[in-house]
Amino acid sequence: MNDASKPSVLRCHDLYKTYHDTGADVPVIKGINLEINRGEQLAIIGASGSGKSTLLHLLGGLDNPTSGEVYLNGKNVNALSAGDCGKLRNQYLGFVYQFHHLLPEFTALENVAMPLLVKGLPTQEAKQCAEVMLSNTGLQDRLAHKPAELSGGERQRAAIARALVTSPACVLADEPTGNLDSRNAAQVLELFLELNQSLGTAFVVVTHDQQIASRTQKVLRLEDGVLSVTA
Ligand code: ADP
Ligand code: MG
Repeated sequence: MNDASKPSVLRCHDLYKTYHDTGADVPVIKGINLEINRGEQLAIIGASGSGKSTLLHLLGGLDNPTSGEVYLNGKNVNALSAGDCGKLRNQYLGFVYQFHHLLPEFTALENVAMPLLVKGLPTQEAKQCAEVMLSNTGLQDRLAHKPAELSGGERQRAAIARALVTSPACVLADEPTGNLDSRNAAQVLELFLELNQSLGTAFVVVTHDQQIASRTQKVLRLEDGVLSVTA
């Protein structure tokens, strides 16, 4: 499965998404081809409402395209059962959102250990891995803190630790700094870039923040439902 000769972690082919919920057709994604390789950093920028979250959901197998395919580690996710798609997603992807989505009643350590417990790791081992990942994100002194006892930047760093603890091949981040002030946003971005280098995790970050885009290796713009290379 981890074939080094097949570097593409995530790929989509001729992807279209039109929402029909409201009665009227809302075409949002209009023919996107994209390939994300191992260890790659990609920022996708676009105005609010341009379809960034829609695209990320399609890439993460969280929503089905109207047409086209998404391949995760070479497998067509839309051809899988919901259960198999979930398993594949858990194995290869991590997600970070604008709002941290940490569970309020659990500590940082427990929150980060959670995906490993779900995978069936023994508690002690899961907690050890979670501690290492929280140290990697600079939170070694906040293990026993609950989300409400962390700052906004710390919560986002804990969310990043949780996304990375399963060693996914790729992390999909939807406006991960959208809720932070500029100093914390810069710190969170640096953390992403550092972990991309040290762990070799591919990162796809969608954002309307030009600052983020200026720091990543590759930047694409989503406009009128298609991606283009930025100047
Ligand atoms: P972004 O993340 O770039 O702000 P979104 O992907 O959230 O953009 O939304 C893109 C467009 O699709 C918007 O015009 C939004 O109103 C529309 N949209 C998003 N989700 C739905 C839905 N479930 N039903 C109908 N329209 C939707
Ligand atoms: Mg969005």
